[in-house]
Amino acid sequence: MNPASSTCPLCQHDAIIEMECIACDADQADKTVSVRTCPACDFAWQWPLERTVEQSNAFFQHAYENKREASYFDTHLRSQISNLQLGFLNELDIEEKTLLDIGCGDGNFATEAAKNGWTALGLDPAIPPEKEQQTTLAHLKLTSASLEHLPPDEKFMCVTMWDVVEHLPDPEPMLKNAWDRVAVGGWLILETGNYQSAERLLCGRGWWAWQLDHRWYFAPPTLLQFLKSFDYSESRLADRVFRPWSAKKPTFRAPSFFQTSLSIAKRPWRISAILSEHGAKRQAAAKWPKWAGLPIFTLAIRK
Ligand SMILES: [Zn+2]
Repeated sequence: MNPASSTCPLCQHDAIIEMECIACDADQADKTVSVRTCPACDFAWQWPLERTVEQSNAFFQHAYENKREASYFDTHLRSQISNLQLGFLNELDIEEKTLLDIGCGDGNFATEAAKNGWTALGLDPAIPPEKEQQTTLAHLKLTSASLEHLPPDEKFMCVTMWDVVEHLPDPEPMLKNAWDRVAVGGWLILETGNYQSAERLLCGRGWWAWQLDHRWYFAPPTLLQFLKSFDYSESRLADRVFRPWSAKKPTFRAPSFFQTSLSIAKRPWRISAILSEHGAKRQAAAKWPKWAGLPIFTLAIRK
């Protein structure tokens, strides 16, 4: 996919909309990212790009080494998230528990999987050499090697890419390579922010997913559209968000006019904010009733 293209990289629609959004992960408060959106298929992508691949790798290596407390990189929080994600894998009815985690970060998910009976291999360019040797679990290997360096016939029942696809300079070759590593009957599992969510409409330019390192903004249908050529036998959208603080469900219902009137009656000084929230929620419920409730979604496809 070419982000510089003047047409939508997914559906080739040619009336692209450009907007400036607040870069939620930037140190400066007023830093923005340029986002292009396609009104035909509701796909979005960053252009021009804020970071080169080398800058992204350096950023993540530093972030995982420093693990700021309570941030995305906090080890305790990551283990909680990993265990919620493992719960989903266990629902997929897999007998032979072999796992390849691509873009494994510091290896937290692969480590939790290995503790729970999986034979796990984690790959990430940000894995420091000393971490590769530190692994004490028998069924766990972490390495900075890339996918191409694995034995060509090595396949896995689960290939996971948690919060990876949005960072890839070109998702197509990487996802194809990942799909090649899925054994027949196995699953490819992808998690990313949901562009077609009520939360995105409610937050507007201040949505958390507008980030310097996020190059693509998928939603369940656009990701399925993108994976169409993979010829999968089955797809499954997780019915929840794998974050300990989130109780979000996929289906989304807008508030009634009565509920909105009641909110206005209680706090009349907020009328314009309440009306704008009401509009965003009604739009999300009308356009994407079955998945607008998920701020982050996980999609699995089966070979
Ligand atoms: Zn499009």
